[in-house]
Amino acid sequence: MRFYTTSHGARCNSRIWPTLCRYCGQRVFYFTCDCGCKVFFDELGAPWPKHQCRGYLNSLIETYGREVIERGMAVMMMTPGIESSYASKVQKAYEQEVRQPAPKKNIIRRDPVHGAREDVVGIVRELIDDVNVFKRIGASDNLFSRAMLRSLAKAQCVQITIHTGALASADNYRFTFLVDKQLLMQQSIVKGALIRCQLHSLVVPGWNPIWICDRVRSPFEED
Ligand SMILES: [Zn+2]
Ligand SMILES: [Zn+2]
Repeated sequence: MRFYTTSHGARCNSRIWPTLCRYCGQRVFYFTCDCGCKVFFDELGAPWPKHQCRGYLNSLIETYGREVIERGMAVMMMTPGIESSYASKVQKAYEQEVRQPAPKKNIIRRDPVHGAREDVVGIVRELIDDVNVFKRIGASDNLFSRAMLRSLAKAQCVQITIHTGALASADNYRFTFLVDKQLLMQQSIVKGALIRCQLHSLVVPGWNPIWICDRVRSPFEED
């Protein structure tokens, strides 16, 4: 039998985002850390009740199999406990966020530079449907721009802005990107949702540089 002496916290790069359950719409807290934990909590703090609505449980069973889930969600929370100092830090940060929701300070805009690729997790802050991609990049619609934009030239584009900062985290970045609406179809992308996206930059002289999203998924999904 293995005994754990440490709990999750700053040491294992714990991160928590307040978000909405994509199945029941309830406010939940998504916790992840470098130990491999991935779990939604109903409340922020001891005894850290796990979110267990029907839709979410079904999705877990689909991902991990019934046996794993019935063994007590061992995959998601490999060692017990979350450091109390970390807990009080995120609680404070969350209270502040609720009291004063916007605008948040210290958010650094990440601009696309040539050849950049990012795999980021963040909260959706803004959604703009039906964006004209040619207007957005400041290019005319011709063979060259269509070749550069590839499938995005023909797509119905959505512009999404996410903030990556977890509660009480010092790093908070803002990414604004374009995504083919078809990629969003199986996802419930609403303001406040937590998503993971793979981005690449499109930087062409004379155009506005943009981030293009190649893949969107729930941060909970495995690679
Ligand atoms: Zn951990
Ligand atoms: Zn739920």
